[in-house]
Amino acid sequence: MTDCLFCKIIAGEISSHKIYEDDEVLAFLDINPVHLGHTLVVPKKHSEDILSIDSDSWRAVCERTRILAPIVHGATGADGINVIMNNKKSAGQLIDHAHTHIVPRFKDDGFKGLPQHKESDEALAAMREKITALI
Ligand code: AMP
Ligand code: ZN
Repeated sequence: MTDCLFCKIIAGEISSHKIYEDDEVLAFLDINPVHLGHTLVVPKKHSEDILSIDSDSWRAVCERTRILAPIVHGATGADGINVIMNNKKSAGQLIDHAHTHIVPRFKDDGFKGLPQHKESDEALAAMREKITALI
């Protein structure tokens, strides 16, 4: 995609703080990290998000994320790691090229997760029906 920032980084047209590269995946530091060491794992083949990524690209991203997460954990001295993927604007996606975030986390760093709420048993059962009907 000529217009995609991450495709331009993959093509070397825009520089990045690259930490890993192979035939399928590029990983580099996020320039606006939650904490320094926050890493993005990006498939080289352009796809927008989890709703459209192909199986091979997704497997590659997942496996490299699995390999890189403990390395980022060790290098940053983090207490924990979040692996995050934002999909579509309403879920916080800024760059429309699928990627995971490896985010180092520290005790008491104050960042809270997404707000959750208690749901009724009826609503859970109805949603379960809807989802499993599509599998
Ligand atoms: P998302 O919101 O999941 O699409 O995340 C996109 C991420 O890319 C954000 O965390 C940005 O800080 C990061 N980002 C944007 N431009 C660059 C860049 N040129 N190099 C590295 N990271 C970037
Ligand atoms: Zn792209």
